Amino acid sequence: MKITIFGTGYVGLVTGACLAEMGNHVVCVDIDAAKVARLRGGDIPIYEPGLESIVRRNHASGRLDFTVDAAPAVAHGEVIFIAVGTPPDEDGSADLKYVLAVAATIGRHLDRYAVVVNKSTVPVGTADRVRAVVATELAARHAAVEFDVVSNPEFLKEGAAVDDCLRPDRIIVGASSARAVAVLHKLYAPFNRNHDRMVVMDERSAELTKYAANAMLATKISFMNEIANIAERVGADVELVRQGIGSDPRIGYHFIYPGAGYGGSCFPKDVQALERTAHSYGYEARLLGAVEAVNRQQKTKLFELISHHFNGALAGKTIALWGLAFKPNTDDMREAPSRQLMEALWDAGAKVRAFDPEAREETHRLYGDRDDLVLCEHAYDVLQGADVLAVVTEWKAFRSPDLAGIRAALAEPAIFDGRNLYDPATVEEAGLAYYGIGRGRSL
Ligand code: NAD
Repeated sequence: MKITIFGTGYVGLVTGACLAEMGNHVVCVDIDAAKVARLRGGDIPIYEPGLESIVRRNHASGRLDFTVDAAPAVAHGEVIFIAVGTPPDEDGSADLKYVLAVAATIGRHLDRYAVVVNKSTVPVGTADRVRAVVATELAARHAAVEFDVVSNPEFLKEGAAVDDCLRPDRIIVGASSARAVAVLHKLYAPFNRNHDRMVVMDERSAELTKYAANAMLATKISFMNEIANIAERVGADVELVRQGIGSDPRIGYHFIYPGAGYGGSCFPKDVQALERTAHSYGYEARLLGAVEAVNRQQKTKLFELISHHFNGALAGKTIALWGLAFKPNTDDMREAPSRQLMEALWDAGAKVRAFDPEAREETHRLYGDRDDLVLCEHAYDVLQGADVLAVVTEWKAFRSPDLAGIRAALAEPAIFDGRNLYDPATVEEAGLAYYGIGRGRSL
């Protein structure tokens, strides 16, 4: 099939590459000319496991192309995806300017039936707005062209995006047109060979499904962080509690890890946007507000522990950091807990030496060259001249540390384990102070 995708970010690029992999002819459009030039040259602007080879292979075979030129791209696609950003507006609601700009572009160039598929995370009612914008543009040039708008929210996880896209748990399709549903059945048939993963519903339910999924996941994290904060005060170990509750199949072991707070481009903005949607309909979503509040506080946790360790005297100290990305297997730093931690440390007069397997370039792009930040090439380089070590992102490479080496290198041997990766007793036996999240005795 002929596919057009607006937006070559995490969602658009991965979707385009995976649809090309299935034999479709995909054109990806972006307004960022530099990004398009890099992609055409085989240079992938983001780190995502498996993405580079699939993009290069399909680009070389002629099934995946990149352009800034919207008109021929709209003419190409029988299915036209919108996969542009929906950042938070000033009041926390989703800013739809990029989505609606793409809708207008489609309306300006569409010359025969196409299905417009919205993959961006958008508030309930956006499919209607996209439909209205396309129709207005068509009417302005007296074009009698039929089209359908479908909501098809994306559930891929950064760090496992290619795999998620090739083997989705479910494909949510919100549509009111049987013709559009048939087109999407055909498009997604290669992903449904094992069993039909497509769940068809109305547009509004599909739009809300995406927010409900992210809000549920964020709630699980904030819930466990709340329990961790209680555990810390009552002298319990949240890691034992986690395993204790996870054994109940109604709860399960997935996604109940306490830590340094959730970040990324989705949970913070989507929980907030859902709360704003509820508010605009006269409903106060108190649980969502609490999920956010717990997370805001949790993102200060590592700094509090470090500051407490030094009795507030952080000026002149050097803190070694393992992990900068908001989670492992990505270079994405959006809303990453490491940013809040580093900024608080700098404000307190401390220096940071940091290592991340993939996010160093992005960190440098965000913070530039500064005296109080050294980005190291190797994990153990961060220890040189450092006082203590804090683990912020749970990359696999940090799971079996050389504790004796760390102890020998640090001026004041202590580990602040923001992801509860280590056994406190083992760390202490190696001669280091241990601070975890909700492990009974940190404060
Ligand atoms: P991103 O910021 O990585 O990429 C968005 C891209 O859209 C950018 O390259 C930008 O230049 C481009 N763009 C903006 N306006 C454009 C226009 N008029 N025409 C063409 N391109 C345009 O965003 P992302 O992380 O891929 O997220 C996209 C959407 O998908 C968001 O709504 C997000 O909430 C949702 N989503 C993201 C993830 C994720 O893990 N990143 C997962 C599921 C859903």
